[in-house]
Amino acid sequence: MTESGKTGFLFEEIYLWHDAATAAFPLQPGHHFENPDTKRRFRDLLAVSGLLERLHPIKAIAATEDDLARLHTRDYIAQIKRMSAERGGDAGEFTPFGPGGFEIAALAAGGVMRAVEAVVTGAVDNAYALVRPPGHHAEPNRGRGYCIFGNIAVAIMYARAKLGVTRAAVVDWDVHHGNGTQAAFYDDPNVLTISIHQDNLYPANSGSIADNGSGRGVGYNLNVPMPPGSGGGAYIAAFERVIVPALRRFKPELIVVASGLDAAGLDPLGRMMLHSEHYRRLARMILQVAGDVCAGRVVLSHEGGYSAIYVPFCGLAIMEELSGIRTNITDPYLEMAESWGYQALQPHQEAAIDRAAALLPRIK
Ligand code: ZN
Repeated sequence: MTESGKTGFLFEEIYLWHDAATAAFPLQPGHHFENPDTKRRFRDLLAVSGLLERLHPIKAIAATEDDLARLHTRDYIAQIKRMSAERGGDAGEFTPFGPGGFEIAALAAGGVMRAVEAVVTGAVDNAYALVRPPGHHAEPNRGRGYCIFGNIAVAIMYARAKLGVTRAAVVDWDVHHGNGTQAAFYDDPNVLTISIHQDNLYPANSGSIADNGSGRGVGYNLNVPMPPGSGGGAYIAAFERVIVPALRRFKPELIVVASGLDAAGLDPLGRMMLHSEHYRRLARMILQVAGDVCAGRVVLSHEGGYSAIYVPFCGLAIMEELSGIRTNITDPYLEMAESWGYQALQPHQEAAIDRAAALLPRIK
């Protein structure tokens, strides 16, 4: 293995104690899609590969209520806190949590804050926050889609309030639309929010290309909805023709990636076809543009990803790329996923990319 740079890694065991199982199965009990296994096995593979011990550990500290209130309403925060102190409940739409869920969700948001702080202050070159519960669907006054607090939005608001960051960009490659992050900065020209996702998957009727920002923020929310069945060819083309050029035009001081790994071909909730080498390539493209525009300042914050067997290999490829350290682990599913038909860019996918690219001139 060769070593270069310094990559931070943030993880807390208690993230795995967040309990989404209680309210999810009205009939036969079973594992909620958003269960600890995907995250645990991602971290376990990092450990077994030898990479984990070569990463710089970052310690999470819980977001305070004032930190959360930069994004969320005080009423919503109080509601989650009250339910958490009792028996848990549902934060809104498909967001069950157990007792203590408030503290774990605040530690997830605070974890992303700490990862951003470590990168902005130069303590590390880049960082991955393996947090749970995820955050990109959470809205100011309700949880949605397994997300209680908007981890990335809270962290960017913290960076702007306390760390001297003015311009930040979010690239959300989770297969679902990053509606919460979009809503947090919809009229703000200082935060460019980009989401590439399966067209109209979740939330319903969310993530349209027409939703391009409002007021002074017009142009600074960019949705790239892709047809189901998109593979590596489509994603790489979308990054080359839309996402990377958008970042070059905007010139953020910091890039945060909403790193859902559910656009992988083996994911049960998405209908896309990425494999681990695609994630490696996307991570490399983000690092390259970050190197040019913001001194390489990149934070990845974990979002979705529901295949317990495959999330770890996609995650390992990303961590290898971030750290510049290759391990001797190979993805046992790679050959199969590479051989699937339609991995190459298809005309209807290219048409979707062209429509998004037409919005680039709005970014000044
Ligand atoms: Zn997702």
